[in-house]
Amino acid sequence: MLLIKLPDDFCSDLYSKYETAMDAKNLVFNGEFATHNRLEREIDGKAYEFELTLLKSLQQRPEVGNVNDNPFAKPEPELTVLPSFGSKDEFRIVFNKFPVVPGHFMLITKDFKPQTTPLSPNELVATISILKKLKESDLGKKWFAFYNSGPESGASQPHKHIQFMTLPDGFAPFADNLANGSDAFIPNQMREPLQDKHLPFAHYVARLPDNSDEITEELLAMTYLSLLQRTLTVLKENESSQISYNFCATTKYMMLIPRSSGKYEDIMGINSCGFMGLFLCKNDELFDMVKENGPENILKSIGFPNTSERPSADYHY
Ligand code: AMP
Ligand code: AMP
Repeated sequence: MLLIKLPDDFCSDLYSKYETAMDAKNLVFNGEFATHNRLEREIDGKAYEFELTLLKSLQQRPEVGNVNDNPFAKPEPELTVLPSFGSKDEFRIVFNKFPVVPGHFMLITKDFKPQTTPLSPNELVATISILKKLKESDLGKKWFAFYNSGPESGASQPHKHIQFMTLPDGFAPFADNLANGSDAFIPNQMREPLQDKHLPFAHYVARLPDNSDEITEELLAMTYLSLLQRTLTVLKENESSQISYNFCATTKYMMLIPRSSGKYEDIMGINSCGFMGLFLCKNDELFDMVKENGPENILKSIGFPNTSERPSADYHY
């Protein structure tokens, strides 16, 4: 059995601990005054949806953490969902202290590991195990995981953390549609990951098997590696001086996106959530700007141009 077992009541426990932490003001919930706006875009003749969340009161969150002042070294007990998790008990599950979406939590390593390190097979297995558990127990919600890695990825904390958040109700990120039309990815040099040619930015998606029995540690590790190879190739070809990318996953797929910049024109920080179609706008000007400039153009500017037109020879790393 590959997947790591979570407590049967993981999901109900998650929400009840979340309520308790909220009542005791251990969490700083920022979503109360948020307004959510669905944006339909026609790109290259195809329809896409984005969600713009306008949140003027986003506050109290430390902009950048450091190794000495590291909130994940000794997480607050009130924010802890599971004090120990993983095949070697190497992780904790804790709430994000500054959620915009209720229940937002993170898988963090117990020992310090840099956020710049690639996801290990153990970390991938733990991530997919959590996503599978949420899918089977939180029936009304669709969860996704994300990992912001590298200086231009939109990450703020250096201690390794993979985050878990729900999607807005009825919302389908572009990667869902891409994965829906595909068979499970077989990681080898001959097969290219999925990339929607209508979108202007580079992104690499691999469909995962529906059947949990077919998901092995090796499959997850090799799939991640295939996507990472393409990502590194793009960074190298563009003479990027750093390795930054976003990772998003659901039970259905994994996606990697190479990043050229953590911020759009120095005015708006964007992390993995942006590539799930979710834009957090901290004032009216940014909200109007995203609508005006077009989310897909913003994603191109903080990423790299789409590479789906290039031949699929073994150009990658
Ligand atoms: P990232 O910006 O991707 O590195 O994610 C780090 C996350 O940690 C941010 O979303 C913060 O909201 C969250 N965070 C910052 N300080 C704490 C803390 N003391 N406890 C829990 N989460 C925190
Ligand atoms: P930041 O934009 O990095 O200041 O993120 C503030 C908080 O919201 C963090 O806890 C993020 O992980 C989370 N977050 C980032 N982008 C989004 C988004 N588009 N929708 C909801 N929450 C988000």
